[in-house]
Amino acid sequence: MHSPQESKTSLLSDASKRLQQAMAYVDISEDAIARLQHPKTSLTVSIPVRMDDGSLKVFSGYRVRYEDTRGAGKGGVRYHPGVTLDEVQSLAFWMTFKCALLDLPFGGAKGGITVNPKELSKAELERLSRGYIDAIADAIGVDIDILAPDVYTNAVIMGWMMDQYSTIQRKLCRGVVTGKPLALGGSKGRDTATAMGAFTVIQAMLSKFKLITEETTVAIQGFGNAGSILAGLLAEAGYKVVAVSDSKGGIYAPQGLDIASVKEHKNQSREMKAVYCQDTVCSIIEHQVISNQELLALDVDILIPAALENQVNQDNAADIKAKYIFEVANGPINSDADQILSQRGIYVFPDILVNAGGVTVSYFEWVQNRSGWYWTLDEVNQRLRDKMQIEAEQVWQLSQELNISIRTAAYVHALKRLGIALDAKGNRNYFRS
Ligand code: GLU
Repeated sequence: MHSPQESKTSLLSDASKRLQQAMAYVDISEDAIARLQHPKTSLTVSIPVRMDDGSLKVFSGYRVRYEDTRGAGKGGVRYHPGVTLDEVQSLAFWMTFKCALLDLPFGGAKGGITVNPKELSKAELERLSRGYIDAIADAIGVDIDILAPDVYTNAVIMGWMMDQYSTIQRKLCRGVVTGKPLALGGSKGRDTATAMGAFTVIQAMLSKFKLITEETTVAIQGFGNAGSILAGLLAEAGYKVVAVSDSKGGIYAPQGLDIASVKEHKNQSREMKAVYCQDTVCSIIEHQVISNQELLALDVDILIPAALENQVNQDNAADIKAKYIFEVANGPINSDADQILSQRGIYVFPDILVNAGGVTVSYFEWVQNRSGWYWTLDEVNQRLRDKMQIEAEQVWQLSQELNISIRTAAYVHALKRLGIALDAKGNRNYFRS
């Protein structure tokens, strides 16, 4: 394993603190715990790319398979200038628990390239994506490790990756990548799956607190695939979505935003504006321009971090005013902030449950690719809702029975399944007797 730079070690060790908290509530062997503390394989690659101007640029890429006892590694590929091996390892760790929590027959993996994709032309992006597959081809496969989209990657990129892998293998290997375009074997409902899964969990969990939908205010940090679709679903259901943001900043309108109009405007102009549109005519509504930090501290009922990790930490956890937080991003709250939020009685619904809709429909896509039998959108969405509701309810029950945070309950639930699988290979007790 490559040793991450010292200053970057915190993310994985912070992530594994959640494992330590959960261990106390699960009858699990020391062997299983020992295995879960280390990524199985961490690959670092260099990807040379011919740029449009004729120059050559070399990018750093990673693929980490954290655990694969319950099934092949599974997880997305992130393109972001901040990608490091430590980050990819942490994301692969979360995928391991997410897949176990949803009872998917997968282990956990993740990949990434340190790049700002907004600075690349489409042709450069294609060469980079194909180059990444050339570099990691030996470490992935339909039954080894399966890729998917993550931050700043999309269906087109997944299509290139599957195509490149198939070219290398000299046969069509659709199941090696999920989140593909429909025409290349993608699943219906994969593009909306993360948001749909989060929406299902939000509805199921909020019913426990008897909130009135129309009076419930929501702030969402991040307006990418998951954040923007979820904002639309919540607004359609009657929630008052009062604030949204992207990487440049946010907008806040206490009377509520017209999300369909905000989305339409953002799609056309790439700008986040508080607008109300009738047909093609859009007018600005009364609002405040706010920073991402200000959005996190708004006095709302529900806060949804849907951007990057480590957004709520020891420096700003005391400023959070929301009563319920649903983590749509991976790792948006660090373990120090967890303590502060829990002491303040704030309910945090964790990433490995809330955003698991994406990988759940990735699993459905993989099954469809392997069987060659494709499902309707209704079938996909119904199966997704059923799965999310069942697992969310079990996590909630565990948190109530054991009087532990919802995050710890989610880890307990996943850890039980991981422990059974790891121990089935034999543990210390088996070999002693
Ligand atoms: N990147 C998504 C996640 O973090 C989806 C992963 C997948 O579909 O494999 O859950």
